[in-house]
Amino acid sequence: MPESIIKRYYDGLGEGRLVARKCNKCGAYTFPPTTACEHCGSFDQEWTELSGRGSLLFVSHGIAPPPNPRFDEMAPYAYGHIILEEGVTVDAIVKDVEPTPENLQALFESAPVDVEADPVNVKGLNVLAFKIV
Ligand SMILES: [Zn+2]
Repeated sequence: MPESIIKRYYDGLGEGRLVARKCNKCGAYTFPPTTACEHCGSFDQEWTELSGRGSLLFVSHGIAPPPNPRFDEMAPYAYGHIILEEGVTVDAIVKDVEPTPENLQALFESAPVDVEADPVNVKGLNVLAFKIV
């Protein structure tokens, strides 16, 4: 039985690693990993690991309740748009930021802010998250 791509992604998060696929045809990364390259559609990819280092471009928070009850205890949380040093963009939880308008404004004005991947486990689910460094 072939290895589950999504299981490998979540298991990687559980170990603090960002597991991705790198395309052998166009050289781009697909993260989170999928069966085919999200840039050119090629199935010719190999496993790789992203550094986890990147820049926070802006941060926001949701007004609506969390999309899943498992996030209730950590809400409200900041949610940021991050570009990793490999050029991959992701949206993820930004830890240790109280999502007040003042804090979000200050982060926006000081962007780009250096961040580092620091996944969290939320009631048994490994979730992509970053911390400001
Ligand atoms: Zn490709």
